[in-house]
Amino acid sequence: MKSIRAIVEEEGISLTPQRLAIIDFMEGNRTHPTVDEIYQDVKSMYPTISKATVYSTMQLLCELGAVQELSIRKRGEACFDPRENKHQHFLCRKCNRVIDISVDLYDEEDIIKAIDSRGHRVEDVHSYFYGVCSDCIQSK
Ligand SMILES: [Zn+2]
Ligand SMILES: [Zn+2]
Repeated sequence: MKSIRAIVEEEGISLTPQRLAIIDFMEGNRTHPTVDEIYQDVKSMYPTISKATVYSTMQLLCELGAVQELSIRKRGEACFDPRENKHQHFLCRKCNRVIDISVDLYDEEDIIKAIDSRGHRVEDVHSYFYGVCSDCIQSK
């Protein structure tokens, strides 16, 4: 799997230190941060960075296919995931964490085959599950 930085550099896009800091933060990040969370982190190193820069950088990374924007919403905000192996997402409605779940879903393959066999072409699958995570259940 290519790093986000490698994908961007292949496109010949020049990276400012601020953009690089955003990319470093996203590289292998499993916490599905929102624009605000990325901004809070990068701001500690680059106090002059603006939210607009974070936003436009994330749009660019999505366009390049280096990260994906999840349609799941954390507190109503979009969140982002580096494009790695296919996995499912579980959103805890109590602590608002988005947790990666990796399972082989043979059923999913069957659904894709069924759609393809009707002459369509599946390009992407997003599975979202909602509930309460184990930490929140235990801390009741
Ligand atoms: Zn939770
Ligand atoms: Zn994920």
